[in-house]
Amino acid sequence: MTGFTSKIVHSDRLSPIEHGSLHKPIHATVAYGYEDARELAAVFQGSASGYTYGRQVNPTVDALQEKVTAMENGVATVCFTTGMAAIGTMIFALLRRGDHLVSSSFLFGNTNSLFNSFTAHGVDVTFVDAQDVEAVAAGINERTRMVFVETIANPRTQVSALAEIGELCRERGLVYVVDNTMTSPYLFQPKAVHASLIINSLTKYIGGHGNALGGAITETGLYDWSSFDNIYDTYKGGDPSKWAITQIKKKGLRDFGASLGAEAAHHLAVGAETLALRLDRQCANAQAMAEYLQNSAWVQAVYYPGLPGHPQHDRAAALFRHPGALVSFELAPEVDIWEYMNGLKVIVKSSNLGDNRTLAIPVAHTIYYEMGPERRASMGIADTLIRISVGIEDIDDLLADLAQAGENNGAA
Ligand SMILES: *Cc1c(COP(=O)(O)O)cnc(C)c1O
Repeated sequence: MTGFTSKIVHSDRLSPIEHGSLHKPIHATVAYGYEDARELAAVFQGSASGYTYGRQVNPTVDALQEKVTAMENGVATVCFTTGMAAIGTMIFALLRRGDHLVSSSFLFGNTNSLFNSFTAHGVDVTFVDAQDVEAVAAGINERTRMVFVETIANPRTQVSALAEIGELCRERGLVYVVDNTMTSPYLFQPKAVHASLIINSLTKYIGGHGNALGGAITETGLYDWSSFDNIYDTYKGGDPSKWAITQIKKKGLRDFGASLGAEAAHHLAVGAETLALRLDRQCANAQAMAEYLQNSAWVQAVYYPGLPGHPQHDRAAALFRHPGALVSFELAPEVDIWEYMNGLKVIVKSSNLGDNRTLAIPVAHTIYYEMGPERRASMGIADTLIRISVGIEDIDDLLADLAQAGENNGAA
């Protein structure tokens, strides 16, 4: 089986499960008992494989980790209770006081906030315009260990210079982390641009149904960690391309404890089975909505990489299977953003993204409120910007909803 969906749909049953169960069961257990104390010790010491304590390992979570690894074509994955826990634990496990991180300035708001917190704890961060590899290169100094970018930035849909930054990191020996949440491994595999580690918020497209939180870090196997100072000697066994994921699991997950629960892992694994089907539909809907909005009198600007006028339209077309399912737009000055938002009847006013339902949010007043007007301006976030996470509804219903919300505001 080589197809993206075939591999995911059949991955559980290819390992033996009691009664021939087709889904990995929900293992609701904290601890695992052993008949032989020597075997228990061997598992703790790593000379035998097995389960110890639920903060570090759970069979249901393992099954999901295998799916994410297969989707990303990586070598290993560790799951966390949220996407933020994955990012925070990765930085905590791999960087130390005095280290420097170069990050895209076009970031998920909470990641921006997290990086500012790490600055207060002694890990310096420089934010750069990751649409341009030269800007990333200019941000690197002798203490830089890692470069962090997103694929399509939320909410303004800037596309990072993913391939060029991968090349730069390879030349300079830097760890290259790509947050693939907005594209998911169905639209894009960051391993193709030489990423070292991949972040996915499983909460979004991979889970897809807005019913469970989760995050993942996947090691691609492309980075040689023997040249990275911050790996502890105890984790330097075996293949150096897997040392980071071992340290993330032992020093990150075990010390910090942001472990994914078995029940959430089950929900996310079921969601993952239909990732490709959902995204084909969501991206087609997004394209139609972006084209519709672009021709609406009450809209001032539309941001979607599938539109020919988008600054990185060609880059997105070259890298991604589809240009994503997030559309954002600025209303014309005469349209009241609150009246317009309240006019939406099918589209839900909500903060999540990647859900089956179409969700809209006035970003400057909500998820990007706390960062203040200056930082918002630097990210290109206007007060009239509305972000739409496009769902799987029938496109006619979505277009009719946008049309009536505009018309009811006297701006047809
Ligand atoms: C949502 C999101 C996250 C954080 O994921 P949670 O599961 O909500 O913690 C990280 N990165 C991006 C790009 C996201 O959209």
